[in-house]
Amino acid sequence: METMKAVVYRGHETIELTDRPIPTLLAPEDAIVRVTRSTICSSDLHILHGSVPRAKEGIILGHEFVGVVTAVGENVKKRRVGERVAVNVETFCGDCFYCRRGYVNNCEHGGWELGCRIDGCQAEYVRVPMADQGLHPIPQSVSDEDALLVGDVLSTGYWAAQIGEIEPASAVAVLGAGPTGLCTMMCARLYSPACIIAVDVNDERLAAAKENGLCDVTLNPSRDDVEARIRALTDGRGADRVFEVAGAKDTFETAWRIARPSAIVVLVALYAQAQSLPLHLMYGKNLTFKTGGVHANACGDILKLIQAGRLNTAPLLTHHAPLNDALTGYRTFEAMRDGCIKWVITPYER
Ligand SMILES: [Zn+2]
Ligand SMILES: [Zn+2]
Repeated sequence: METMKAVVYRGHETIELTDRPIPTLLAPEDAIVRVTRSTICSSDLHILHGSVPRAKEGIILGHEFVGVVTAVGENVKKRRVGERVAVNVETFCGDCFYCRRGYVNNCEHGGWELGCRIDGCQAEYVRVPMADQGLHPIPQSVSDEDALLVGDVLSTGYWAAQIGEIEPASAVAVLGAGPTGLCTMMCARLYSPACIIAVDVNDERLAAAKENGLCDVTLNPSRDDVEARIRALTDGRGADRVFEVAGAKDTFETAWRIARPSAIVVLVALYAQAQSLPLHLMYGKNLTFKTGGVHANACGDILKLIQAGRLNTAPLLTHHAPLNDALTGYRTFEAMRDGCIKWVITPYER
């Protein structure tokens, strides 16, 4: 049996780089993809720390990647061997009650499977089920790296901005300037808000957001009175739209406090703990909360926007190293060491 290198989840707080068999087609809807670039995502850390109870021990981690198709099952109609593809974080059938309504995260036959319930992409090859839905061809003028975040964090930012119903000239606040927060800011820009306010305790990340034109104002809660500053920026009202992408101890509370009356508050964060919703304190504020995991069904549109130069995630890809160094990557990414925003895994070097 031919083997490959892979990062395997061994249970609470334990991962290892080890040898695993190269995957083969198991169903006629499957494809096999040779991974050319993958990443470490905050959700991988959530699995490692035990805050994703549905994650299975013994699986290969990783769910954000691009690659080249090396095999397709007989029922795969749209993809061909040799194509460069961006891969959707979600496995979905495209045909059930939820998929037909665009709610692919709630697919009756899938959801977030790769790197959680089935083997993921921190490896040399991946089996992708329901490949006609999960794989998107990368346009020739778009590099693998430029397409790397399409299936996961960029899809999340795109979906968040979409359900946030941002109106032109509005004030948008984004809590969290990590990879998903930065993608949310980038996608919020597509709707022409007057002002994007980035909030984070990490000055390096705030600076990256500002320097790359992803936000207009930066606030650091360890220094700034965020609520007062946002009121001052919005004629005393508060933000028109709030995106909670931080998932820290008190960021949920900040999110509803900085929202103006009748605002939309989008909760993108995956919380490690229960949150309290003190409705008695917000009575009459008439907030709309939207929550959940991305319905990643816009990869084709996102690739078009990258091709058109409207979305560019290159500034987020701060670190590159081969699969050999993935465990170092986990530590560096989690500690945000050396300004690490995104750790890109390049192919294993023998
Ligand atoms: Zn992810
Ligand atoms: Zn479905």
